[in-house]
Amino acid sequence: MSYVKSLQCKECQSEYELKPLTVCDNDFGPLEVAYDYEAMKGKVTRESIEAGPRSLWRYKDLLPIEGEPKAGLNSGFTPFIKADRLAAELGVKELYIKDDSANYPSYSYKDRVVAVALTKAIEFDFDTVGCASTGNLAHSVAAHAAAAGLRACVMIPHDLEEGKIVATLSFGPRMFKIKGNYDDVNRLCSQIADKYNWAIVNVNLRPYYTEGAKTHGFEIAEQMGWRLPKHTVSPVAGGTILPKIWKAYQEFITLGIVEDNKPKIYGAQADGCNPVVTALREDQELFHPQKPNTIAKSIAIGNPADGYYVIKVIKESGGFGESASDQEILDAVKLLGRTQGIFTEPAGGTTLACAIKLIQSGRIPRDESICVCITGNGLKTVEVMQGQFAANPTINAKMSEFDELVKQMEETHPSQSPATTA
Ligand SMILES: *Cc1c(COP(=O)(O)O)cnc(C)c1O
Ligand SMILES: [Zn+2]
Repeated sequence: MSYVKSLQCKECQSEYELKPLTVCDNDFGPLEVAYDYEAMKGKVTRESIEAGPRSLWRYKDLLPIEGEPKAGLNSGFTPFIKADRLAAELGVKELYIKDDSANYPSYSYKDRVVAVALTKAIEFDFDTVGCASTGNLAHSVAAHAAAAGLRACVMIPHDLEEGKIVATLSFGPRMFKIKGNYDDVNRLCSQIADKYNWAIVNVNLRPYYTEGAKTHGFEIAEQMGWRLPKHTVSPVAGGTILPKIWKAYQEFITLGIVEDNKPKIYGAQADGCNPVVTALREDQELFHPQKPNTIAKSIAIGNPADGYYVIKVIKESGGFGESASDQEILDAVKLLGRTQGIFTEPAGGTTLACAIKLIQSGRIPRDESICVCITGNGLKTVEVMQGQFAANPTINAKMSEFDELVKQMEETHPSQSPATTA
């Protein structure tokens, strides 16, 4: 039983059949999946969701698939952490981390969108799947395609972090490294999707792909005890996840699953690629595309496909945008590691750094609940952390040399030194 009605144009509301379509014939508006919420009432409930699998497929009734899930059976349902040590450090009362750095199988939020897109690709009978990626999407597509027995062709900018490339290649996809930035890759992929009969997940399957991102928001609400955080800080790259977290909150409100606490949502970008944040600061509805220059490569998209809707949703909610410098990003990566034991990549550092700036500027009050969305894992981007930590000397396996180091440690870092007596 599926509650999906149609694909619907976000601008003129024209309806289309559930096919691999992405834009409206009338006005080129993007198509989005529409559901029959009336039919869901009383059937899609807290209890029905709790009875589902411990994966993102527990929200299957709110996802656009016809039959059973065919990819990502272990994706989603990532940790949700009450970050008390970080909260104390920042001087806020109630702080949560939604931790998609632990997503399965490829350690980023992209496992959510790919789980849905590849299930759709199989429903539509494609045998080759692909993507235009800043790295994490290629990694996730390759992993899920390998597990589902589909051929994968992934397209990436040529200069990505080595960890993302090696991790992706281990799943055996065909990788195309393109000279240029993500926006160049994306433009090429639109042409590839027209010419080859491939399912490019974020191009010709985009309406289905993006729906998978709602599960990040559903999980936040469920794991908070069927409540919404008052303030949610989300990264913005192509602009998929932020409006979909918002859609998830609104769907739960519509279905009476959570109370409407008038949540606010905030967008985080790097200073070196902040088209949406700039538009918000200048109170514009449209953004100007930029040429990215930041260590936060996962979110370096200068011409975000859904940037317009990010701006719209943030304004509607009463939230705002913020951006962070490369050093602020690195400092936030270290802070999250030091206080909570979570190692995120620069995209996660960006989100936390921006949350901190929004708190310090008073945009986010210190006494209301805050959720920071951590979307990627630091192990794929270790090179950015080089030079960020004090050197650790190597010693011979001799007690005297060890004692000497402990003594030095006590002198230089009294708070971190181990107790010297039992
Ligand atoms: C893709 C990605 C995002 C957000 O991308 P959107 O296109 O805005 O959904 C955020 N963080 C990481 C680590 C990503 O890989
Ligand atoms: Zn239209």
